[in-house]
Amino acid sequence: MQPTRFTHAVTRSPRVPQLDHIAFSKGIYLKHYDPTGERHGIPTYPYRWAPAGLLTARQLRAKGLRPGGQDIAAQIIWRNGQRVAYLYREDFAVPKRTATPAQRAAIGKALRARRTCRTCGAEKPYYIPRSLGECNDCARRWER
Ligand SMILES: [Zn+2]
Repeated sequence: MQPTRFTHAVTRSPRVPQLDHIAFSKGIYLKHYDPTGERHGIPTYPYRWAPAGLLTARQLRAKGLRPGGQDIAAQIIWRNGQRVAYLYREDFAVPKRTATPAQRAAIGKALRARRTCRTCGAEKPYYIPRSLGECNDCARRWER
């Protein structure tokens, strides 16, 4: 259950026990730990201390998800308040939109065009370098 890379608190509840311990037992004021959102308006956590299950849009995308219509669930604040990232609930996220067959066909056509040499008309396994404007074989004919 412990993630290999430490990006989240090891809890799914809004309160993070380790931060509560620091805040309440040791009396240390944690400016960017506000699990109820009473100070910041929405639940707020320090960098890498958000509960598991809350992800940025980018982290959702990496899992093939998008926020969907859901509201921002929480935020993380770091660099002394200069950086903010909004978090969404993974359990409310929806699958990333996939291209329709027509869109996929258009994409395929565009990629084929980028691989097709305008000089010899051959489709190559690589993109025609913009700097050459033609395939490597055609460009090399000047070297012979
Ligand atoms: Zn060519």
